[in-house]
Amino acid sequence: MDAFLSHEYQGLKEAVREFSEGEMSDELLKDCNDRHVYPFDLYRKAGEVGIIGAGFDEDVGGSGFGVMGAAIAIEQMCRVSPGLGMAVSLGWIPGLMIDVNGDDQMRQKYVRPMIEGKAISAICLTEPNYGSDIRRMDTACDLVMEEKGGRFVVNGNKIFTTNATYATIFTILCQDGENETSLVFDKEVMENNAGELEIIEMPGKMGQRFVSSCELTFKDFEISRENILGERYKGLKTVINFFNKSRVEIASQGMGAAEYGLFKALGYAREREQFGRKIIQHQAIGHQIARMITAVKQAQLLLYDTAWRYDHSRGGSWMERALSTCMVKSSIPDLALDILKRAIDVFGGYGYFEEMGLEGAYRDTRITPIYEGTVEMQLDVMSNILHRIDMNYLSKEFF
Ligand SMILES: Cc1cc2nc3c(=O)[nH]c(=O)nc-3n(C[C@H](O)[C@H](O)[C@H](O)COP(=O)(O)OP(=O)(O)OC[C@H]3O[C@@H](n4cnc5c(N)ncnc54)[C@H](O)[C@@H]3O)c2cc1C
Repeated sequence: MDAFLSHEYQGLKEAVREFSEGEMSDELLKDCNDRHVYPFDLYRKAGEVGIIGAGFDEDVGGSGFGVMGAAIAIEQMCRVSPGLGMAVSLGWIPGLMIDVNGDDQMRQKYVRPMIEGKAISAICLTEPNYGSDIRRMDTACDLVMEEKGGRFVVNGNKIFTTNATYATIFTILCQDGENETSLVFDKEVMENNAGELEIIEMPGKMGQRFVSSCELTFKDFEISRENILGERYKGLKTVINFFNKSRVEIASQGMGAAEYGLFKALGYAREREQFGRKIIQHQAIGHQIARMITAVKQAQLLLYDTAWRYDHSRGGSWMERALSTCMVKSSIPDLALDILKRAIDVFGGYGYFEEMGLEGAYRDTRITPIYEGTVEMQLDVMSNILHRIDMNYLSKEFF
C-alpha cells in the first residue's frame, strides 16, 4: 500500500511491474547491449499494453494518468531492469517536446503513433559548442519564401542525439536570426525533401548501449514552414516546457534504478553468510541498508510530490513547476548512483561482475545526472527561482 497512490495508480503500478517482470529479462538486456541494438519488440509491446500512453492525454490515445502515471510506469520498469526501462522510456521521452508544444494536428500525427509503440522519437538540442548553454546555437534555419508558404533551410551539427538512427520523429532547436525556433520533421521529410542529413553513431559509450547516440549533420536540409513547433522565435520556451516534464521522467529512471540496487543489496545481504552470520546481521552492512531504504523512500515521496504538483499546476506558477522538477532531476539520479555503488559494495567482489546486473545498471544510470541538463544546471535554475519567488507563496505552496 502507498499513501500517495489511489486505487487506479496502484493498479497501474502493479500492471507495469507484472509486464516488466514478464518481458524484461537479463538475457534480452545482454543481447541488446552485445549486439548494440534497440529493443524494438519490447517497445512495441509496451505501446500495445498502454505503458507508453500512461502519461499522455486521452485525446492522442493515452490513458490520462499524467506525469504521475509516466513516473510510476518508468519507475516500475527501471526497478525491474534499469537498462530496459530506460531504453523503452527513451523511445518516447523526446516526443514529449511535441506533446507539450504542438497543436492538435501535430500531436495526432506524431504523438499518437509513438504512444502505440510504432514510432521512436529523437530531440536535437546539443551541439559541439553548445551543451548546457542552449541560448545560442551554430545550427541555423533560414526561412526561404516560396509560393507554397515558405521553407526553412537548416545547416549545422547536432551531437549526442539519442536514437537518431532508429527514430522516425525528430525535433530540432535552431538559431533563427537573433532568436531560436523549434522545428519538427519525420522520416518522410528525410526521404523526400531537398538537402542532406547525415547521421553517424558516436562510438565508445560507457553504458546505454541499447540506444544509439548520434551526430547529425544538416546541409541545406529543408523543412516546411508548417513544421514550426510552438511559435516562431519562441524555441527556448518550447524547450523549457519540455524540460519541465521530461526531467521528472528522467528522475523516474533514477528512481527505479535506485530501487533495483536497494532490493538487490537487501536480498543478497539476507542470504550471504560470512563469519557464521548473514551479512545483514553485521552492523556495518545492516545499517548501510537501513540508510539506503530510508533515502530511497524519501526520494520516492519527493518524486510523487513533484509529479502531483505538475499534474495539478496546469496554468499555475511556472516557477513552482520548475523548482520541483529541478529538485528531483538534481537529486534522484545522483542518489541512484550512490545506492548502486553501495549495492556493489554489499555484493563484494561479485558485485563487480556483469552477471549480478549491478555494474551494468551503474553504467547505464551514470548518464541520468547529465542528460536533460546537468545537476549544476538544475541547481542554477533553482537558485535563480529561490532568489525571485514570493516567499509567502513558497512557504504556503511548498510546506
Ligand atoms: C548518452 C547521452 C545522451 C544524450 N542525449 C541527448 C539527446 O537526445 N538530445 C540532446 O540534445 N542532447 C543529448 N545529450 C546531451 C546532454 O544533454 C549534454 O551532454 C548535457 O546537457 C551537457 O552538455 P555538455 O556535454 O556540452 O557539457 P558542458 O555544457 O560543456 O558542461 C561541462 C561541465 O560544466 C558544467 N557547467 C557548464 N556550464 C556551467 C555553469 N554555468 N555553471 C556551473 N557549471 C557549468 C556542466 O554542469 C558540466 O559539469 C546526451 C548526452 C549523452 C552523453
